[in-house]
Amino acid sequence: MDQDKKERHNERMQRKKAVVDAGIEKAQEVRGIFIVITGNGKGKSTSAFGTLFRALGHGHQVGVVQYIKGTQSSGEVLYLQQHTPNLRYHAMATGFTWNTQNWDADKKAADAAWEQSRLMLQDASLNLVVLDELTYMLKYNYLDAQDVLDAIRNRPPLQTVIITGRAASPELIELADTVSEIRDIKHAFQAGVKAQPGVDF
Ligand code: ATP
Ligand code: MG
Repeated sequence: MDQDKKERHNERMQRKKAVVDAGIEKAQEVRGIFIVITGNGKGKSTSAFGTLFRALGHGHQVGVVQYIKGTQSSGEVLYLQQHTPNLRYHAMATGFTWNTQNWDADKKAADAAWEQSRLMLQDASLNLVVLDELTYMLKYNYLDAQDVLDAIRNRPPLQTVIITGRAASPELIELADTVSEIRDIKHAFQAGVKAQPGVDF
């Protein structure tokens, strides 16, 4: 790169740094946030668990409730259960599936999972609570939307909550501080690649 280009590059970077520094200076509030990770692309639950690993790295206590959970545990949960005492975990008992179609059993399991979630959302010792795939419980009316919103609103001020799942409702999005929508551009499964342990679960 010639000298002239380097100088222009440096000037651009300095201007950029000033904008970034001003942004950092402005953001001074310290509180827990509510994050929604939605959309049809792959990466919602893995994003939530990535954040959970960050929290654990800082010695935080974390809670996880997995809705719509099959009978097989995913790799991240198996790992966490073996390696950290700082995790509180609950999975929906029946492993809600699209093929059971048993409203009463699924509703009972959803209520039990929500009871655990509610307790976590009242527990100030938990820095982070992940409610994985909760959006479906609202979409199919297994849980009362108002109960969920109230519990999130009234949680301890320093607690961060992450909800994942497709089709997040407008109410969840409205209440959230941070919302990311993961877009499906392509997925190996569509090309016939089998879901793999360590990558997909
Ligand atoms: P991940 O757990 O990998 O972050 P996710 O939470 O975004 O995925 P879910 O709808 O919860 O997505 O689905 C979990 C499973 O479905 C994973 O095995 C994932 O690879 C697969 N999956 C996610 N998105 C897609 C997609 N767009 N097409 C096909 N399979 C998908
Ligand atoms: Mg998921």
